[in-house]
Amino acid sequence: MSEENKAKQDAMDMAEDSRQAEWEFPSFTGELYKGSFRWDLMHPFPVQDEADKKIGDEYLEKLKKVCEDDVDAEMIDRNRKMPDHSLKALTDIGVFGMKIAKKYKGLGFSMVNYARALTYLGSYCQTTVTWASAHQSIGVPEPLKIFGTDAQKEKFLPRLATGDISAFALTEPDVGSDPAKMSTTAEPTEDGEHYIVNGEKLWITNGTAASIIVVMAKTPPKVVKGREIPQISAFILERDMPGYSVDKHCEFLGLNGIANGVLKFDNVKVPKENMIGKPGEGLKIALTTLNTGRLGLPAASVGGAKISLKEIRSWVNERVQWGVPVGKHQSIAKKIANASADTLAMEAIVYLTAAMSDQGQKDIRLEAAIAKYFCTEKAWSMTDDLMQVRGGRGYETAKSLHNRGDNPFPIERILRDARIGRIFEGSSEVMHLIIAREAMDTHFKLVMPLLMPKPGQKESKLSLIMNAAKFYLGWLPKLYMPSGQSFNVKHLSSANQAHLGYVERASRKVAKKMFFTMGKYKQKLETEQLILANFVDIGTNIFAMAATLAYAEHKLSENPSDQTPQELADLFCKNARQEIAANFEAIGNNHNRDFDKVGGKYMEGAYKWLEQGIHDGLPKSLRTPVDAAPAPAAVEEDVQEPVPAK
Ligand SMILES: Cc1cc2nc3c(=O)[nH]c(=O)nc-3n(C[C@H](O)[C@H](O)[C@H](O)COP(=O)(O)OP(=O)(O)OC[C@H]3O[C@@H](n4cnc5c(N)ncnc54)[C@H](O)[C@@H]3O)c2cc1C
Repeated sequence: MSEENKAKQDAMDMAEDSRQAEWEFPSFTGELYKGSFRWDLMHPFPVQDEADKKIGDEYLEKLKKVCEDDVDAEMIDRNRKMPDHSLKALTDIGVFGMKIAKKYKGLGFSMVNYARALTYLGSYCQTTVTWASAHQSIGVPEPLKIFGTDAQKEKFLPRLATGDISAFALTEPDVGSDPAKMSTTAEPTEDGEHYIVNGEKLWITNGTAASIIVVMAKTPPKVVKGREIPQISAFILERDMPGYSVDKHCEFLGLNGIANGVLKFDNVKVPKENMIGKPGEGLKIALTTLNTGRLGLPAASVGGAKISLKEIRSWVNERVQWGVPVGKHQSIAKKIANASADTLAMEAIVYLTAAMSDQGQKDIRLEAAIAKYFCTEKAWSMTDDLMQVRGGRGYETAKSLHNRGDNPFPIERILRDARIGRIFEGSSEVMHLIIAREAMDTHFKLVMPLLMPKPGQKESKLSLIMNAAKFYLGWLPKLYMPSGQSFNVKHLSSANQAHLGYVERASRKVAKKMFFTMGKYKQKLETEQLILANFVDIGTNIFAMAATLAYAEHKLSENPSDQTPQELADLFCKNARQEIAANFEAIGNNHNRDFDKVGGKYMEGAYKWLEQGIHDGLPKSLRTPVDAAPAPAAVEEDVQEPVPAK
């Protein structure tokens, strides 16, 4: 095996070993990919009970007050800093303890209330919501909640609920999407009482402010049948541990006030009690943390979408060009109509998945991954569209608009802030792979032992074939028959009921198509990433349609006289059906080989001639060695007195 193939195989093996292998509870999307449309898992749409809703309502009032009094989203962006008084005000109302149980001094919120709070914060300041989410969606509280011992919870959670900031440290300079190559190590001491951690972590959100972080590090490999299996373990590190240092503060396109940086560990002595879970469980802990942790980002995206819709509405009415309000031009109407329909779908997915998480008894790994992928992609494309709708003012900064006395709605900042959603907490490309892997699990379990037997595999080939045949002979014919399912959806229009019928048929179609595509490509399917992405986009749209229809029906049942959710759901479903059809078409009829060929030749430099006639090199300031670079400009404290807004 070539070095490249071996590295790839190691990465895949490690990802595979770290997955949650069992499906203890039913999964809507998992079933969808098997051709079974489990409407019962999302309908009736799970509604927040009154007592829980009241807690959320009251909390949003507190959040509103703190945001208005103590958190200035604009100045945070301009100064690239979250002020201490803002952090204190947020901490005082428990923003950093929303997901921590009351017995550990947190607010003990349901996922739905947590999502509502993040939506609210996201509508106001994406930097602030990132502080809160990095701390408790993926930072120490979440893995401790799932994997921590009572002693660890008692020791750390009260601190994390009341002021200590936490972070999640996985990424390294050479390790982004592929943790198998991780170089941070944790070596056990001779007496076994401690681990010595050495290494460097990059881009750690909250990292420059955090006092308690979770770090993924390599522990000694396990030797199984003569083969070394790399082990990644999870540790809690505290900032005052000797050898722990914050090396650099990083700055980005957006999220200007996050405390993100490079962390260095130089022989940091960590008590063995600070390991979360068991040795080797680190990646599993990271991935499981992300299963529900991934809901934070979509909730924040919904906030950004809603505030953009709200603010753009007056613009499309008031701005008149060519004799009519710009919203009446069909190209603009399409953008604002789709933004409205997509926002409904995003909200439906976020609240459905959060409610499913609260209910327990449902496996939401696929739904949470889809929520992250769908909402961050939609937030980006929608914000881009709405910036376009605002014309030149969309590209102008809020400060400049304000100084001119124009409406300073910061769509420019919202766009900058939205972009990272497609990269962190699993890039969209990696989400495709994660979702595709989970979607194919049933087939993997039945077919992979035949195609790629593992060393020491017990079952005989014959028994594996019998097993697979038994399953497929029962399963496949059913996909060709109408399910005869009836849907109890009295509030939906006939158009929306028809969409529901489509969802059921599309579930069977995607299951069949996936089965035959696996048969065609066999293990080579793993390299057909674009086809896998087609399957993921089909499943994502089917799930989004079902969630949106269930949510719309819930809204209609609450207020039958308002038919507008019906219209938005219908528009969303029509768009989604077009996307689904295009993806089905692309599975069998594509020019993916051209991408392989041209991409490969580009990498070899075959098209270097395209690079002629351009500037060659960096600006002078970036050619200076790092240590000699001029100090950054002082933080802007004074702001020009604005002209009153019109
Ligand atoms: C603002 C910010 C905040 C962050 N916060 C944190 C944090 O708190 N903690 C933390 O641990 N990390 C954090 N990160 C790191 C972030 O999670 C990574 O940037 C992300 O996982 C992608 O890794 P990478 O940048 O190394 O890209 P790479 O993994 O090098 O990928 C480069 C490109 O290749 C694609 N790619 C990679 N592998 C595959 C594949 N197998 N198939 C197809 N495409 C592939 C990627 O999608 C991407 O487009 C943060 C990053 C930023 C910018």
